Amino acid sequence: MKREIIVATGNAEKMVEIRQILGDEYSLMTMKEAGVDLDIEETGETFEENALIKARAAATASGKLAIADDSGLVVDAMGGEPGIHSARWMGHDTSYDIKNTEIIRLVDEYCAGKAAEGLADNPRGLEPDGTPGPLRSARFVCAVAAVWPDGEERTAIGVMEGRINTCQSGDNGFGYDPIFFLPEYGMTSGDIPREEKSRISHRGKAFRKLREILEEG
Ligand code: IMP
Repeated sequence: MKREIIVATGNAEKMVEIRQILGDEYSLMTMKEAGVDLDIEETGETFEENALIKARAAATASGKLAIADDSGLVVDAMGGEPGIHSARWMGHDTSYDIKNTEIIRLVDEYCAGKAAEGLADNPRGLEPDGTPGPLRSARFVCAVAAVWPDGEERTAIGVMEGRINTCQSGDNGFGYDPIFFLPEYGMTSGDIPREEKSRISHRGKAFRKLREILEEG
């Protein structure tokens, strides 16, 4: 019989991605499908804490093994913001077009400040070839948590490194993908094909680690 796992998310796109990565060995159910009606407040201070809060709540309410993830964009020039606040940064209802434009502006301002202090040659923090340089560094982070009904807890982290682009580009992704430049691809994570993103993404890496944890358990 397939092992039942409750996935603490209401996001249908995430369920598709998680099913693809974990394969057919498990019977994955959303909280709704498991008859669990919970509004979980993400009060943690790290991605891991928030993933654990969600998985714990689902495991306690269902009495079954539960998994959850928490992810976001960490921008060094913004002191790590939007980070764990990525979904709600500038307000849930603000469009990503506006959020992405604001991040580019803040990173541009940071780079111009560094150049004015004589700490950078290029006022926009660009490489000699015109692509985003190290002053524009950022990463997508995804933490996943698994909580068993007996209280056992495991977590894993996946990271995708990149840089904040100088403009928005690409329709393949969502959220902050149009401004996330991948130096090794020379394009944004909104430009690369979906399958390729899933191979290199923070979420792909974190859930593949989780698959190993579940295989051990
Ligand atoms: P949560 O993991 O559902 O709490 O949401 C994380 C938020 O981080 C999303 O709403 C997006 O704003 C952002 N985010 C996480 N992963 C990605 C990604 O792969 N591309 C673009 N934005 C992302």
